[in-house]
Amino acid sequence: MKNVFYPFYYDEFKCIGGVCKHNCCIGWEIDIDPDTYKKYQKISGALSERLKANISTEDTPHFVLQQEERCPFLNEDNLCDIILEKGENFLCQICSDHPRFRNFFAHCTEVGLGLCCEEAARLILSQKEPFFMPEKPIDLLTAEEISFFRFRNNIFKKISDRTVPFSERIASLCQGYGISFPKKSHREWADVFLTFEHMDDDWISLLKSLKQAEGVASPGREWDMVLEQLFSYFIYRHLSGGLEDGRYGERILFATLGTLMISFLASVKKHITGVLTIESFIELARLYSSEIEYSEDNTEALLELMEDTF
Ligand code: SF4
Repeated sequence: MKNVFYPFYYDEFKCIGGVCKHNCCIGWEIDIDPDTYKKYQKISGALSERLKANISTEDTPHFVLQQEERCPFLNEDNLCDIILEKGENFLCQICSDHPRFRNFFAHCTEVGLGLCCEEAARLILSQKEPFFMPEKPIDLLTAEEISFFRFRNNIFKKISDRTVPFSERIASLCQGYGISFPKKSHREWADVFLTFEHMDDDWISLLKSLKQAEGVASPGREWDMVLEQLFSYFIYRHLSGGLEDGRYGERILFATLGTLMISFLASVKKHITGVLTIESFIELARLYSSEIEYSEDNTEALLELMEDTF
């Protein structure tokens, strides 16, 4: 599609559907957009009857979740019956978009993959190359956007300087932009996160383990490349919001905190189990994303907390 830009790994993404451990068709309320709703009303036959029986029109039309909060069209093999019967084009907007997110600019759009999907998280965190976006033609950008992309590219460049440890890259980045990260111990951060709304009890157990843990350190330099990808993801996803609200410093700190919290949790995991695998790191990142990034309230609460540091 014209004027739409993707990160370098985007085309490699493929939903793993039936074998996904945290299937996005479980536990999330799925609203149906008006165009799809109209399309669903026009068909006939058994699928039409099933759609009628499983869509609630209270407020925005949405699928009525079944036992264990499963989408009514998710079958026993964890595959989608709508796709099986009618193909992907018959999905509603939310289902065909997920786990993609979009950042809109004046004349172009950036698309990304959200970390709350385990397969997207696996793809994002296993990249070996520094984060990269194709350059946008200058005639697509406003003057403000040109400055923004220069600023963001500079962040990607600094954070991928692998000649120095990742922790030093972050520290010098924040220092370079004159922003200071709030001074809190891992226990104090656990307390902050424990006040937020949550969805998964595993998240609360992890925060409680963090609160009780002694001497939490970074998971080790061998994890620098993963932390770099994680931080770059947060910057890619969240920094452009600064074009609307001017909170650039807060968004850099939000990205720093996300990276720090996930590495704290990884360190606790390593301490408890004696080993830290990439799969368990991916799971921690996915959980953090679905609890924090995918909650507007939690994201906003952290941005406000960062605002107070200025
Ligand atoms: S969470 Fe990701 S991999 Fe899992 S079913 Fe959803 S889109 Fe597919």
